[in-house]
Amino acid sequence: MATVIAITNQKGGVGKTTTVVNLAAGFAAKGLRVLLVDLDPQANATMGCGIDKAKLPAGGLYRLLLGEATLEAVRCRSESGGFDVLPANRELGGAEVELVSAPRREQRLKDALAEVRADYDLILLDCPPALNLLTLNGLAAASRVIIPMQCEYYALEGLSDLVNTLKKARASLNPGIEMLGLLRTMYDPRFTLSQQVSAQLQQYFPGKLFETAIPRNVRLAEAPSHGMPALAYDRASRGAKAYLALVEEIAQRLHLTLPKQVG
Ligand code: ADP
Ligand code: MG
Repeated sequence: MATVIAITNQKGGVGKTTTVVNLAAGFAAKGLRVLLVDLDPQANATMGCGIDKAKLPAGGLYRLLLGEATLEAVRCRSESGGFDVLPANRELGGAEVELVSAPRREQRLKDALAEVRADYDLILLDCPPALNLLTLNGLAAASRVIIPMQCEYYALEGLSDLVNTLKKARASLNPGIEMLGLLRTMYDPRFTLSQQVSAQLQQYFPGKLFETAIPRNVRLAEAPSHGMPALAYDRASRGAKAYLALVEEIAQRLHLTLPKQVG
């Protein structure tokens, strides 16, 4: 049965999508069966996997959530990443309004994934930068949450919002959901502030901060414009290597065995 992990942070531009795409590629390279779900109408993860959001079969995740298409019909393959994708397009933004009066409106993704959970080892959810119905669908479907963040002055403030969101999700939506870890992105250890924020994160969230921090790396920023994860675009880059190290660290936390070795 797949472990379902939501990558979430209400803040935009913190590296959620970059993390989802590169973790999906990293786990796939190490031999796991991976499904990426793009819950963001901006469809950055979809495009970053090499899938054209203007030509989605059966209308993408939007139609699936509305119950107008099957998962089989919507599912795509990322050839550059080696994993499957439930892709998004701008229409997905409309689901917000259209699902309001629908039954089980927060459980739609969870219900849709139930039929394929046995086909995958890992399902990764890319959440939009808002606490909306799409994010709630992500939080209802996931058993674990990874929170990417930049080590800046206001980071801790944003985190307390996120911790509250998680508490509410646990109380009303999904009693089993747990934080898997906090991930430092676009990290530069030379900044004193980065070190101070890291120390505070360790203090307030003992055992949650991933040892691996993702460095600021231009190859990670360039790869999406080629429709590729960094592992396919430049596997020797610092960014690709950092995400591979994170794959190992997550596998340890989840007690997952990785069938293949990748340098
Ligand atoms: P989010 O999904 O949280 O909005 P993204 O993953 O889209 O964040 O990242 C925001 C921007 O920063 C993108 O242009 C992305 O390419 C870039 N970016 C993300 N992580 C890194 C990194 N480690 N180094 C350099 N650029 C990055
Ligand atoms: Mg994003």
